[in-house]
Amino acid sequence: MNQPKSFDLTGLLAARGGERYALHEQHMNRQLPRMLHTIGFDKVYTRAEGAYLYDADGSGYLDMLSGFGVFALGRHHPVIRQALHDVLDAELADLTQFDCAPLAGLLAERLLERAPHLDRVYFSNSGTEAVEAGLKFARYVTGRKRIIYLDHAFHGLTTGSLSVNGGKEFRRGFDPLLPDSEIKLGDIAALERELRKGDVAGFVFEPIQGKGVSIPPPGFLSAAQELVHRHKAMMIADEVQTGVGRTGDFFAYEYEGITPDIVATAKALSGGYIPIGATLAAGSTFDKVYSSMDRVLVHDSTFGSNAQAMAAALATLHVVESEDVVRRARETGDQLRTRLAELVDKYELVAEVRGRGLMIGIEFGRPSSWKLRGAWTALQTARKGLFAQTVVHALFHQHQILTQVSGDHVEVIKLIPPLIIGQREVDYFVDSFVAVMDDAHQGAGLMWDFGRSLMKQAVRS
Ligand code: PLP
Repeated sequence: MNQPKSFDLTGLLAARGGERYALHEQHMNRQLPRMLHTIGFDKVYTRAEGAYLYDADGSGYLDMLSGFGVFALGRHHPVIRQALHDVLDAELADLTQFDCAPLAGLLAERLLERAPHLDRVYFSNSGTEAVEAGLKFARYVTGRKRIIYLDHAFHGLTTGSLSVNGGKEFRRGFDPLLPDSEIKLGDIAALERELRKGDVAGFVFEPIQGKGVSIPPPGFLSAAQELVHRHKAMMIADEVQTGVGRTGDFFAYEYEGITPDIVATAKALSGGYIPIGATLAAGSTFDKVYSSMDRVLVHDSTFGSNAQAMAAALATLHVVESEDVVRRARETGDQLRTRLAELVDKYELVAEVRGRGLMIGIEFGRPSSWKLRGAWTALQTARKGLFAQTVVHALFHQHQILTQVSGDHVEVIKLIPPLIIGQREVDYFVDSFVAVMDDAHQGAGLMWDFGRSLMKQAVRS
């Protein structure tokens, strides 16, 4: 077969892009296309810009999911694109492995300005790697084995991060994992009990949990920090999802007035383009882990610090500052959350609205009226989380808004839109959510029909 001389990406996409679902079905994890068909999310998007995805007809979808938090600055931000063009055109001698790449040093310098109590940064390629580095650093520095984590925690899916995952659905079948221990969110006495055993290296936590958008009770994290330090262990903040402005502070732990010993971040730092993970820690931590020239590569990653990732992250931090993104996220988030919280009194199915900045959870709960209770209970009996899935489905199909259920077996939908959304998106989301709730509270109609079809599916599987 004659191969064309040049590689024609545009031509390849035009010729074969239509086979996307079949290709996944045949060559990749086939449960993804299966799941997308089941929940009716099997769309073909052809373009994206800012907070919107577009299908082949040019019809826009409001993206309140931002690639699980990656697109904090929206899609295809011109400043980040330009930085990537520039770094490619610069033809740098990148990944030499035996030199000190300038962009990595500059990014470390900028990032540490946001965590002035820390001194050094290790760069990797993903959130889970950023957490893994934190777990390893804590174990090495303290010479102890055990990490304490919270129920429902999510820190990534490589084996170390999985050892501190608070969800059985992820852990099942992958054991034995590391000898880590779970405590309940907010249970300070349990934390103290574990620390007293004297073998705890660190306590890892999300300042706001991605699953269920659960917020630690006020004062819990500062009390935890006091205890953890008293017992000579380390506080490891997982800011993979919450970092870079998501919650209305650059790092979400700032709100709690704590100073974690290790901070892991990723997702939004990429500008939505090049995967990156960053683990920040004190100079003394780095000096122990990398204590001699022999140990220079004792924790490292081939692609960490690559020029494209560094350029995208530097441009991201530039935009975060120049466009005042953190303040905007706080103000837009306050407005969106306040308007949604007003619906708790209006709709019996809406139990609570919580979150901080633009990380918002809407929790549904058992209705009080007889009219709705039968349908609600039937869904709950089949599988917890199906009502939230019907809301996600209705928002998508009736209003072209992309959201997600916030984890397995929870009746919570999570909103993590790009931080650059404004009044138009807030109004559109609230109006659409109100329309979906009006529909749901009639106790009949399309929404409940979809719920019933999900219910049958759940019972079958
Ligand atoms: N930590 C948190 C809080 C996350 O939300 C995630 C991903 O969703 C991770 C870690 C893992 O990040 P990654 O998927 O980039 O490995």
